[in-house]
Amino acid sequence: MKGICILGATGSIGVSTLDVVARHTDRYRVVALTANRQVERLAAQCQQYRPDYAVMADADAAERLATILHDTAPETRVLSGVAGLCEVVALENVDAVMAAIVGAAGLAPTIAAARAGKRILLANKEALVMSGNLFMAEVRATGAELLPIDSEHNAIFQCMPTDFARGLAAVGVTRILLTASGGPFRDMSLERMQGVTPDEACAHPNWSMGRKISVDSATMMNKGLEVIEAAWLFNTDHEHIEVVLHPQSIIHSLVRYVDGSVLAQMGNPDMRTPIAHALAWPERIDAGVAPLDLIAVSRLDFQKPDLARFPCLRLAFEAAKVGGSASTVLNAANEVAVEYFLSGKIAFTSIAPVIEQVLSNIPATELVTLEKVMETDMIAREEARQVIEMHHRKVV
Ligand code: NAD
Ligand code: MG
Repeated sequence: MKGICILGATGSIGVSTLDVVARHTDRYRVVALTANRQVERLAAQCQQYRPDYAVMADADAAERLATILHDTAPETRVLSGVAGLCEVVALENVDAVMAAIVGAAGLAPTIAAARAGKRILLANKEALVMSGNLFMAEVRATGAELLPIDSEHNAIFQCMPTDFARGLAAVGVTRILLTASGGPFRDMSLERMQGVTPDEACAHPNWSMGRKISVDSATMMNKGLEVIEAAWLFNTDHEHIEVVLHPQSIIHSLVRYVDGSVLAQMGNPDMRTPIAHALAWPERIDAGVAPLDLIAVSRLDFQKPDLARFPCLRLAFEAAKVGGSASTVLNAANEVAVEYFLSGKIAFTSIAPVIEQVLSNIPATELVTLEKVMETDMIAREEARQVIEMHHRKVV
């Protein structure tokens, strides 16, 4: 039996993970579940999966959860805060940690899982974008296993030779081709994008996801973050990564080899496939996903992304090129701008200019410690709030 800890159990990825785990109760046991403040949802999950621990990041929420579980799941101990999150990932009977908290909040517990040498199933791409070199160094130091959950990176992992850590050139790989659906506004003009609402931005044509990553998909910042994520995971740089628009989301990414071969991974757009892959790797288990019907799909299209209509993708490539703290700043400014957009305070088309301004206001430095990463993240958030208040806040 493998013990599983799910960070962000109440979210889209967390719920899909529990769905896969529930199909294999002979292989996996849920040891710990965590969430931010969705008390009722986490309580119901605890009653169903009976974990040893439940953690709420929010202290008041933890108290309310403890009251509910006192009678309904008394064997589950309730902890709170970042300390609680970092404690449960390192438990001795935890073998694998699903890192599915959204945003920078996931960094500390995900690093703690790396330090404890666990198998990390990484959905929380922001953690890697913020602190790639330090994160990867922690993983190497303890021999933790890092398996990508992001569908593109999971696809790339499946198409790579097993010894890719030697360097892509050494294993005959010349390019990573990252596919992108283009999101809900793929063919929309910039003028029309100006007035789109949060609900329109979150209505992704192929995937059902949390609201933050849905907005990232609509601006294509998601693909930009994924370029940076891929560079760290596969030991390469942005010059060896190409983004290809593929509206059907059937090919999840591709790897090009020096001999002319291009390997692709395909499947229905359902996150349970990469989750099951990473949970069982190197074995394969049923994910509950319907078999891919190629006749029903019938065609696969590919286009070049338009950087003029999707400036966030350009900004991410530029940050990747600058290196150091630039991607930490990019991520922090994006998180703040997306929050403001989701609460109706800035226009969709203000997201990119806010990030661009913050990137130009904060000079890039080397990131040598995690404390420096956290400090840079805080400074960039504050700068983003100021840029928004001064230039972009909607007048109501
Ligand atoms: P979501 O918003 O549905 O869920 C987020 C989870 O994180 C929730 O359980 C929430 O309680 C928890 N959380 C939020 N803030 C927290 C905080 N401050 N402290 C502790 N916990 C907190 O998000 P999601 O769509 O499941 O995405 C999760 C991560 O996976 C993101 O990094 C996203 O980019 C990545 N990802 C998601 C998908 C997808 O299909 N949903 C695909 C690829 C990658
Ligand atoms: Mg993805």
